Amino acid sequence: MDSLILTTEQLQTMIDHVEAESPLEACGLLSGKDSRVESVHFVQNQAQSPVRFVMDPKQQLDALEWIDSHDQELLAIFHSHPAGPETVSATDIAEAAYQVIHIILAGADRNWQARGFWIENGQAREVALQVV
Ligand code: ZN
Repeated sequence: MDSLILTTEQLQTMIDHVEAESPLEACGLLSGKDSRVESVHFVQNQAQSPVRFVMDPKQQLDALEWIDSHDQELLAIFHSHPAGPETVSATDIAEAAYQVIHIILAGADRNWQARGFWIENGQAREVALQVV
């Protein structure tokens, strides 16, 4: 996937969530069709850590089942780096389990930036997030 299309409202929904959970990392899923996001799903960070995230398995499964039953596809996984960096970390690359876009929301002082990455074969390349 080369790009992802999301609305300013969806982006703000993600930012509000990661801001509320900061300084802990927060995470979630984006689903939709044809690279266009339709739904934002929050998943609890089981690790409860400022430098690491582990999706709560039950909430993740519930979200994936919801996506399936609403005829959508998993398009992206997002998580925050409250203290940076703005890019996926070596751990993120090593632990990437799904062939979807990985969105990093990095920020300090409520100034969150979102960037998207495609991870394959141990490499990450940036993909465009089109906010419409
Ligand atoms: Zn990360």
